[in-house]
Amino acid sequence: MELRLYNTQTRKKELFRPIKSNGVGFYSCGPTIYWYQHIGNMRTYIFNDILKRVLLYNKFKVKHVMNYTDVGHLTSDEDTGEDKIEKAAKKEGKTAREITDYYSKVFEQDCKKLNIIKPSIIARATDNIKEQINLINVLTKKHYTYKTSDGIYFDTSKLKDYGKLAKLNIKELQEGKRIGIKEKRNKTDFALWKFSEEPGVRQQEWDFEGKKGYPGWHIECSAMSSKYLGKQFDIHTGGREHIPVHHTNEIAQSEAAFGKKPWVKYWLHAEWLTFKGKKISKSTGGLYTISELERQGFDPLDFRYLTLTTIYRKRLNFDMESLKSARISFEKLKNIILELKNKKNSKGDVKQYNKKFLEAVNDDLNVPKGLSILWQVLRDNKIGSRKKYSLALKFDKVLGLNLKNVRKEIIPRRLKEWKKSDEIREAIRKKGYQVEDTSEGYKIKKSL
Ligand SMILES: [Zn+2]
Repeated sequence: MELRLYNTQTRKKELFRPIKSNGVGFYSCGPTIYWYQHIGNMRTYIFNDILKRVLLYNKFKVKHVMNYTDVGHLTSDEDTGEDKIEKAAKKEGKTAREITDYYSKVFEQDCKKLNIIKPSIIARATDNIKEQINLINVLTKKHYTYKTSDGIYFDTSKLKDYGKLAKLNIKELQEGKRIGIKEKRNKTDFALWKFSEEPGVRQQEWDFEGKKGYPGWHIECSAMSSKYLGKQFDIHTGGREHIPVHHTNEIAQSEAAFGKKPWVKYWLHAEWLTFKGKKISKSTGGLYTISELERQGFDPLDFRYLTLTTIYRKRLNFDMESLKSARISFEKLKNIILELKNKKNSKGDVKQYNKKFLEAVNDDLNVPKGLSILWQVLRDNKIGSRKKYSLALKFDKVLGLNLKNVRKEIIPRRLKEWKKSDEIREAIRKKGYQVEDTSEGYKIKKSL
């Protein structure tokens, strides 16, 4: 019944054993805060949350660190293109800080709506420039770096096992290596630091090596995770798109600098949310935000419920129909919870259910199975209402559906009743009150 997790590094489910006995060090790559996060991104953050909740359910102490990328993430993985933050600031006519403050706030609101537990520490890249420069200096001292006209690069040919996480075929990658790499020595080399093209034009730039410049995206995660979790830690997560470049490069520079192997013991990655069978994107569509789903009459937790129906390592296809059926199941669940609340009957033995639930979630976070066990409990006539209720709340420590705070829905929510709901809202508004959507249902406030 011990916790097993699928480690991308070994491509196997492994028994989870933290490095130190006093707690688990857990780092997850956070958002680049230049725009709204879409539901595909949010699936990854729900996965992080489930992982953390399962660790806590197993009574581990968890130190969870997440970064905000607020500089240095370029529009291309090839160390070219514009800085996403600078580009957004220009487009919206705002300062970089205004952009990153605004979008990080929206992101935090979305996380709250999805009942995601806040990380122990959120670290901004721009607050940790010194740490990043120090790390680059360590790498330079160890002869892993070289300078070009546009930045400081990591020489990936110095590592025998570069690309091991993604099992990259380096030989194949290096072929035709003179194309598009400019002054880079190897195609897979990456920028640790970039010099500003025109000093004084960028909003965010710092002095290093006698010039103005800014850090690369990968170095921030190595610098900030080691600052808070040490030179070696237990778990690192991200979306599966991080495997071939971002996480590969994080490993390369961290193992080179810290001399610890493996730098991270367990690598876990969330699969994509797809739309019409493809990763959701500008061209495929499906780039909804949580607020957009709310505007269409959904509770953000309907989306959370939907993500719980598929294990994190499988693709989950998103469409309005599947979201609607998730909502129907979730509303059924909430109604049952409401009925059970305050009932007294505590007959029956739930030991087997407890065991089965723990087995399911400890089997590489098999939450869909855990959810089906919850449904089995609720349908079991041999178990009394009171026991069902308390077991549901216990399982919800992992599921995170906020069952403890389920309230009677005052206002009709189903799509077909949406018009009616609008009419009621309008009537309320005319009386001088307003209806606010919150993660716990509706709140009615006096209008200003
Ligand atoms: Zn990262």
